[in-house]
Amino acid sequence: MAPSSDKHYVARILERRDLSPDLWLLRVDPGGPFKYLAGQYATLGLEVDGVRIERAYSIVSSPYEETLEFFIELVPQGGLTPHLYKLKAGDTLSCRKIAKGRFTLDLRSGRSNHLLVSTVTGIAPFVSYVRTLYRDWKNGGTPMPGNHKLFCLQGGSRSWEFGYRDELDRYAAETPWFKFAATVSRPWEDPAWAGETGRVDDLLRKYADAWGLQPDSTTVYLCGHPNMVENGRGILERARWKKDAIFEEVYFPQTKGGSAGASDPAPDQPFE
Ligand SMILES: Cc1cc2nc3c(=O)[nH]c(=O)nc-3n(C[C@H](O)[C@H](O)[C@H](O)COP(=O)(O)OP(=O)(O)OC[C@H]3O[C@@H](n4cnc5c(N)ncnc54)[C@H](O)[C@@H]3O)c2cc1C
Repeated sequence: MAPSSDKHYVARILERRDLSPDLWLLRVDPGGPFKYLAGQYATLGLEVDGVRIERAYSIVSSPYEETLEFFIELVPQGGLTPHLYKLKAGDTLSCRKIAKGRFTLDLRSGRSNHLLVSTVTGIAPFVSYVRTLYRDWKNGGTPMPGNHKLFCLQGGSRSWEFGYRDELDRYAAETPWFKFAATVSRPWEDPAWAGETGRVDDLLRKYADAWGLQPDSTTVYLCGHPNMVENGRGILERARWKKDAIFEEVYFPQTKGGSAGASDPAPDQPFE
């Protein structure tokens, strides 16, 4: 629980769904009017020993939905997530009244292809984009000004970490403007997985080529683990993407030095 203030609502958890021992989805009533754009984040918090601890969480839901959805990973040594993890439906937390972030769809540059690349919970803003566009498309509008297309790649260590794969597969099957591929980096821990394997950044070039994506007509969005974002940026720049065509949302600071591609993550920090 965290008290309300002029900057904070008391938000309430409406629903919780666990995907694995360290990944879960929350549906939250923000506790008051909350305006946001697809791709922005909310700041959630709890009061722990008299101190409010707050962190950013990308919003999974579309602004068309009445409640907010989040996809959260437990960081066992973290300041907030071990406390968030204990919450169940009916419990409260704080939510800053203002959404933040500029990781929204680039509809101004003239590039009409959008390559969305994520590690695990980094899929959140992309689900928000696609849910929003799908709703517009179903209502008979063009999905976006111009003829934009979205191409989404998600990486996870194992397939049960994807969270939104079924939903994204459905959009891909139904619409002409969305494609989705998921890749598992530890297939030996997931023998039933018959899909793509490898780290998502290792597959960037393969999918960019297969989908016919060119630097001058494609904005790329990298979201999630800092090592993936750094590796991804390096790969894209070597493939002639300009800096202004690469958008980044890094979820936490890179703890290891090391240049792009230099290293495996520490054993407790898989970045798939
Ligand atoms: C714009 C933005 C959007 C975000 N959206 C999401 C989201 O949708 N879902 C989500 O789960 N998180 C998201 N995060 C990360 C989130 O804000 C917290 O950093 C995360 O939940 C850990 O919080 P904590 O207090 O438990 O750990 P902290 O006390 O913040 O961190 C403890 C240590 O763990 C490291 N660390 C933090 N997160 C991870 C991680 N995932 N894996 C490995 N090491 C980590 C930190 O660098 C630090 O060294 C987002 C971050 C940003 C900046």
